[in-house]
Amino acid sequence: MTVRDLIRFLDGWAPPALQQPYDNTGLQVGNPDAEIAGAVVALDLTHAVLDEAKAQGANVVVTHHPLLFKPVKRLAPGPGPSGLAYRLAAEGIAHVAAHTNLDAIDGGVSFALAEDLGLEDVRLLDGFAGQTVKLAVFVPESHAEAVREALAEAGAGRAGRYDACAFATPGTGTFRPLDGADPFVGTVGALERVDEIRLEAEVLRARLPQVLAAMRAAHPYEEVAFDVYPVERVSDSVGFGAIGTLPEAEAGAAFLARVAERLGERALRYAGDLARPVRRVAVCGGAGVDLAGKAMAAGADAYVTADVTYHRFFDVLDGAGRPAMLLVDALHYATERCAERLLADTLAAAFPSTTFRRTEIRTAPVKTFVA
Ligand SMILES: [Zn+2]
Repeated sequence: MTVRDLIRFLDGWAPPALQQPYDNTGLQVGNPDAEIAGAVVALDLTHAVLDEAKAQGANVVVTHHPLLFKPVKRLAPGPGPSGLAYRLAAEGIAHVAAHTNLDAIDGGVSFALAEDLGLEDVRLLDGFAGQTVKLAVFVPESHAEAVREALAEAGAGRAGRYDACAFATPGTGTFRPLDGADPFVGTVGALERVDEIRLEAEVLRARLPQVLAAMRAAHPYEEVAFDVYPVERVSDSVGFGAIGTLPEAEAGAAFLARVAERLGERALRYAGDLARPVRRVAVCGGAGVDLAGKAMAAGADAYVTADVTYHRFFDVLDGAGRPAMLLVDALHYATERCAERLLADTLAAAFPSTTFRRTEIRTAPVKTFVA
């Protein structure tokens, strides 16, 4: 297994096209052709993680946070990304990141956080608009099933907890092969009528190239007739944040205790009324306060995220100044540490003969002092 195989898998699972414009997901440093001896999975790349990888004989580090965001002017030993990139190159360790693309998929980081907190019936909180297209392809009846299967296999027709969603309508296709054509049915110069099926399925824009390739491979015609058109509806399979319910309602204070205990933190910041029961809970790993409004609109009793600045805590107050929801800042590291489990478990399942080990290092440089 090479670094390229790892990247290809990550690109299929969490397409880079889903990353935010500011992001820099994917290969950070390394040779794609290198054979993977072993990999360490961490939230952040740090010198301690590199030491750990070396001690384990691993030559790949997979993280959620990318190392390289801003232009680096030199690679030399020293602080910051430049020094880490230098070490990676000098010591022959590859570094691959899956960041906002991994936040954006159904089953991504916020879903892992929801699982950590014990939420059930978890769904996407804020679906992206403009990220899906409708594909309609015209297939002779004899090959409709094969094309339908190929589309589903390539990832067309995924919606929430369903896959292989498609619709078929019978009709008649007409065409006349011209000189030089090598038609699957019909003869050159004669108008042909064929019983065809119009197969349609929704496709994530990021997956369209692989779906079209699979469609062409399974379709018998020289010239495949198909349409791709945009879907304006908000996606239910890609977006940010997640929302679910606790098995039973609990008091606000009990809920905060749950969050602290499950995420391994001793102190949380919050705004809200601890006397009010919590049942419906929205989450977003990392800096997600911008979704607080969506969480309230979705009926959340509590919203757990991180990096909430002082003034944003006012956002949860209603017109009479009463808190409409519990807003919890559970710290960036604690809300995204679940990305290590998500990445390590998914990669280990995809590549059973390669070792993907979660780091044992707490990579967060920030700690909480409890007096
Ligand atoms: Zn983050």
